[in-house]
Amino acid sequence: MNLTLDLAPYVTDITACQRCRRTVTLGDTVRCTDGFRVCFECVLEAVEEHHLAAVADRYLPVP
Ligand SMILES: [Zn+2]
Repeated sequence: MNLTLDLAPYVTDITACQRCRRTVTLGDTVRCTDGFRVCFECVLEAVEEHHLAAVADRYLPVP
């Protein structure tokens, strides 16, 4: 049986990152546009991946 408490979540509540499964507090997560809640580490990784991809595109060797 699932209990649904009528309480607003606090930023100090423990949750899990939905990408890396790390245990983090709600205040340390970011809600993505697709509804996922991920930790800042994953956000940083995603940003870095995006930058690397952008740089790779920009500096493609000219044949
Ligand atoms: Zn994460």
